[in-house]
Amino acid sequence: MLITKDSIYYGYKKAQLSKWPCPNCYSIGLKKLEIRSYENNYSKSKRKTKSKEGVFVGILKCIHEDCSCIISVCGDYRMSQNKNKIVEDFFPLHFNPPIPIFKVAEYEEISFELIEVINMAFRLFWTDLNACSNKIRIVIEQILNDKKIRKTKKLDKPKYGRKTEDISLHKRIILFGEKYPGLDKHLTAIKWIGNEGSHKYEGLDVNDLLDAFAILEDVLESLYGYRSKELNSTIKRINKRKKP
Ligand SMILES: [Zn+2]
Repeated sequence: MLITKDSIYYGYKKAQLSKWPCPNCYSIGLKKLEIRSYENNYSKSKRKTKSKEGVFVGILKCIHEDCSCIISVCGDYRMSQNKNKIVEDFFPLHFNPPIPIFKVAEYEEISFELIEVINMAFRLFWTDLNACSNKIRIVIEQILNDKKIRKTKKLDKPKYGRKTEDISLHKRIILFGEKYPGLDKHLTAIKWIGNEGSHKYEGLDVNDLLDAFAILEDVLESLYGYRSKELNSTIKRINKRKKP
């Protein structure tokens, strides 16, 4: 994981804005080209207090010259004064392009659609945790689609004029487990986290989502990573020769 529970916990000081991973080359290190904060009117009306609230906008750039990826960031800003010390907090709500929570593009044979929906989940992670969990649920569906797990089944008798009916996500995950033993448990755990986000108004916190991303990364590594490719060719070779 490029973003961990620890990095989120310490992630709100100005210095941290240069410590997020680059969306293009995944290296850690972004240069702050510009960070501006603006106080809002509500905060100005409470001028007697020594704190300020508002928004911030910024432009970050990857420190590696051969990459030089430019990223915009915006979010909430808070400043408080403790004796003579000024404490500033930055709460990012949006990065564009989205900051990666784990490496995706390095996986071989992963579909464009799957990368797209994972990036959408990375984008929503900062803005709306419940929407992010819904997107992770769509990531599961896309994995099942890519791995050709059936979506529908034939009905013995037509129902409402239909000869087929949809297979539930839960049952599709069971079918997936028959093809990829053990990984169905991973997807089920992610599905529960997704369900929590869909059914509760304030159901999820950052740690729940980082758990889901960590499990998802493990699934992708097993399905598309170099280790799995190497292992699969070994399995094929042994089975073909019927000896090591
Ligand atoms: Zn970069």
